[in-house]
Parts: sequence; C-alpha cells; structure tokens
Amino acid sequence: MQQNKRKLNKGNLHQVKHVVLVLSGKGGVGKSTITTELALALIHAGKKVGILDVDLCGPSIPRMLRVGKPEVHQCDAGWVPVYADPQQQLAIMSIGFLLEDSDEAVIWRGPKKTALIGQFVSDVAWGELDVLLVDTPPGTSDEHLAVLENLRKHRVDGAVLVTTPQAVSTGDVRREITFCKKTAVKILGIVENMSGFVCPHCSECSNIFSKGGGEELAKLTGSVFLGSVPLDPLLAASLEEGQDFLQAFPDSSTYTAIS
Ligand code: ADP
Repeated sequence: MQQNKRKLNKGNLHQVKHVVLVLSGKGGVGKSTITTELALALIHAGKKVGILDVDLCGPSIPRMLRVGKPEVHQCDAGWVPVYADPQQQLAIMSIGFLLEDSDEAVIWRGPKKTALIGQFVSDVAWGELDVLLVDTPPGTSDEHLAVLENLRKHRVDGAVLVTTPQAVSTGDVRREITFCKKTAVKILGIVENMSGFVCPHCSECSNIFSKGGGEELAKLTGSVFLGSVPLDPLLAASLEEGQDFLQAFPDSSTYTAIS
C-alpha cells in the first residue's frame, strides 16, 4: 500500500462547504450507485463535487466512474485527488487507488483499517468543493466511527441512507438510523433503490420485490423520503460499461428526485 509520509494536514477540508455520508445497512443495495448518481446530479446542478470512497471491502467508485487505478500523487498538503473529468468538477479519492492488490483490504484486521481510514479522511487535498460525498462500508462498524471521528474535526452535514424495498434491508437500515441518532449525525433522507424493474422493451415498471419499504420507514422514523430508483438495465450498463459519465444519468430517477 502507498504510504503518505507528508505531515498530516487537518486543514484539508476547510474549503469543503458540505460533507454528506452515504450509508447502507448491508452491501449490494446500491450505496455506491446512489453516491455516483448524487455526485452526477450535483454536477449537473453546477456544483463542484468530491467522492471519498472508504468502502474497504469493495471500493467500486473508480470502476463505476471509469477512472481505473491511477497513481496517486502527493503535494505538501497530502494526497492529490483524481479528477474524473477534464473540467475537474468531480474529484475522487478511493481506498482502491492505494491498494497494490485489490484483495489486500479484505484480510486487514480492525485496527489497521481504522488507522488507514483516519489518515485517509484527514489527508486528501480536496481544494474547493461544494459537496464531499463519503461512500462508507456497509453496516455500522469501527470504520464508520473512524470516519466520523476524523470528519467531525471539520463538520458532517448529515447522511443519506440507502435501502432496498425488502424488509430485511429496511431492518438493516433501521440499525443505521439508530447509529445516526447515537452519533448525532443528521439523517438527510432515505432513498429506496431497486424499487421495481423497468422493462427495457416496454418501459413498464414491475415490482419484483415488495414496494414502499423505504417510504414507510421514512414515515416511521420521521425522516425525509428522497425518492425511489428502479432496477434499470440502462443504469447497470452505464455503470458497467462506462459511458461518458456526465451524459450517463441526466434522466435517471435520482437526478430527477434531488434536482
Ligand atoms: P453497494 O455499494 O451497496 O455494495 P452497488 O452500488 O455496488 O452496491 O450496487 C451493486 C450492483 O447493483 C452493481 O453492479 C450496480 O451496478 C447494481 N445496481 C445498483 N442499483 C441499481 C439500479 N437501480 N439499477 C440497476 N442496477 C443497479
């Protein structure tokens, strides 16, 4: 793993206006997908955005935004983020950039992960950003506490919670809600992902699983329901095949919901 030997610079977030965590109770519900869509929606709204990918077990942001595995450079203030576009509107730092072997993360023990996350959160030279989105690992673990501890030196505006409609996932997201309450992180809202399936032939949306779990949960917990995103083969293909990312999502549901 690349080590950053520069002096820790706690001022790296001082030009970042808002910090938003993206949380989910378990993996595979679309947390990284929603993080990516939120970033693209904000860019379409003219904002300068950063994504900090601290999902040690599955850093998928570089793949979704087709930035590959570039060499991370250092400046006096710390690690220089990787820009996904020539206009430098979208800055990315992913734990995936720093691992020599993509299997390395899964064998780490807790303290090593916590220490790296601490440094990683504090030591990226973001420059000026309107919003920094933090893609966290699934669940509520030591890694989350490490993220929060380090971000709190600056400020955390709140968290967007991602769930699928099924009860098991919403049960998991309930634990995320408790986590946010216990750690005093404001819940900005809940997104229900994989909410029905859009047929690529007739565009009709069928509910494969139950529907409305996210909305119901938002009502029960007094949170804002931000919207639902169907399972969409076009969205999956955009993420897998890497279309021009700034063109990929303008019609997507999340973009419509938050713009
Ligand atoms: P997580 O970050 O929660 O582990 P991901 O965002 O990596 O989940 O999504 C898991 C997989 O599901 C990815 O292959 C992604 O492309 C796909 N996916 C997520 N949301 C959707 C959606 N709404 N429509 C189609 N595919 C989706």
